[in-house]
Amino acid sequence: MTDRALQTLAVAFPSYLPRALTGDLELSLAEIAWTRAPRPARVSHLLNTVFDRISGQPVSLDRVRRLTSSAREWLLQRAALLFWTDKGWFQAQCRVCEQYFDLPLTLAAAPRKPAGETFPLVSVKTSLGLRRFEAPNGGHEEDLAFEQGDLPPERRLLALCGLAESAAADARAFSKADVTRIEAAFEAHCPDVADVVATRCPACQADIEARIDPLQFAFPRSQQLLRDVHMIASAYHWGEADILALPVARRRGYASLIRAEKGRGGGR
Ligand SMILES: [Zn+2]
Repeated sequence: MTDRALQTLAVAFPSYLPRALTGDLELSLAEIAWTRAPRPARVSHLLNTVFDRISGQPVSLDRVRRLTSSAREWLLQRAALLFWTDKGWFQAQCRVCEQYFDLPLTLAAAPRKPAGETFPLVSVKTSLGLRRFEAPNGGHEEDLAFEQGDLPPERRLLALCGLAESAAADARAFSKADVTRIEAAFEAHCPDVADVVATRCPACQADIEARIDPLQFAFPRSQQLLRDVHMIASAYHWGEADILALPVARRRGYASLIRAEKGRGGGR
């Protein structure tokens, strides 16, 4: 019985090069970040749109899907920092009372745990024999989000990450102790970046774990962008495509000049 080849890329916290920040890029990101598609699919499209290169390689959807989960989360935080000024706090939502509140934490300093020696390979002695798995990647996350099977999610993940030909059958046959042991091995060998903070909700005082999800607060919204386009088009009579092609900093510069001038003239 031969194991299938690893799909998960062997890089924990890859180097990255963003694309030029223009209105076109912001508009694409706004459309991706604020859709109702499952989160893993939005993350894949977002990374594929923001970055020109990851680990020195041209970016493609296939490659961002093969990145391990923590690498994707880490890159998502890097992408967020291109648009979000790290003020030392974030917006979090309480799972109990659903109120939004400000959570003190610096995105750029989120703690990281390095990968184990054999990453992205994880070998575990199970009751069915030695089994090898690959670290969960974006493709697995997307499959889990899209497909509803009769197995619980933790076993579906083992069916996806298992390298043995029998991975699907194994995922059903593993004992509870096997599942616990495999999860512990993933925990020990997979890299990690902090995306959960233990805190107390200021509104209802519940002790909660707040998930730091840059997708919920850091990326551009099309309304803000369209306001700039409208203002510049009205003032200078430039076309939409030309305005969207401007570097973001320059577009914002023009928009603030126009706002300042309107302010002096008493506004409209
Ligand atoms: Zn609350």
